Amino acid sequence: MDEKQKLRNAEALAAEEAARLEAAYGELDAGEIIRLSAERFAADGGIATVSSFGADSAVLLHLIAQVDPALPVAFLDTGHHFGETLEYRDQLAADLGLENLVIVHPQDEPLARHDPDSQLHKVDTDLCCEIRKVEPMARAVEPYAAWFTGRKRHQAQTRAQMPVFEAVGPRIRINPLARWTTQDQADYMRAQKLRENPLVAFGYLSIGCFPCTQPVQPGEDPRSGRWAGQTKTECGIHLPQLERSLTSAA
Ligand code: SF4
Repeated sequence: MDEKQKLRNAEALAAEEAARLEAAYGELDAGEIIRLSAERFAADGGIATVSSFGADSAVLLHLIAQVDPALPVAFLDTGHHFGETLEYRDQLAADLGLENLVIVHPQDEPLARHDPDSQLHKVDTDLCCEIRKVEPMARAVEPYAAWFTGRKRHQAQTRAQMPVFEAVGPRIRINPLARWTTQDQADYMRAQKLRENPLVAFGYLSIGCFPCTQPVQPGEDPRSGRWAGQTKTECGIHLPQLERSLTSAA
């Protein structure tokens, strides 16, 4: 069997497995989804988490830590994060006892070729995100059969129909908080006394790289502070760009 056919088979299997898991576990609460998924993939390809350590990240990481603090947690260090986010990452990981924080950096060669002065975000945000987020993201999840995200349906129109389990190329992406609302999130943060990214207090309700993130006014869509003034709404790590990157990495 040639490599393309092997990949097509792996993608078909991932799609079947995602549908099976959605039917079996998709309506369970987030902690159960994480526990059962960790068991399912522990001995079959492995499972990781990807976190931005942004405004909403603490809840998923707390739930993960309750199940297994040794699960790998990947952080994409774009080189353009707020210093506050980097400090928060380390403080929150220590609070939760996370034992396997994996920091993934962009590759040197594309940075040198396309962004030698770190100003690419001013002229081509898509290429900048491709180099600093999408390709590193594909590398971060490449060793695993599945990974958790903290995405929620209420966050964007593009996520309104999002299942808990979805196939992305030959791998499975798991969104245990898909059904959670902003209120659920706030209630959990308060009940568990979780540390908040300090930028939230300054109106940054969706936090990415500092050149592309602005605070929002009370009542505004939290994601309106990302790439403000542009049509861009997602960096691509959750969109088909990632699937293409994963396919080429498979
Ligand atoms: S969010 Fe902005 S700075 Fe960060 S990778 Fe994308 S374009 Fe570059």
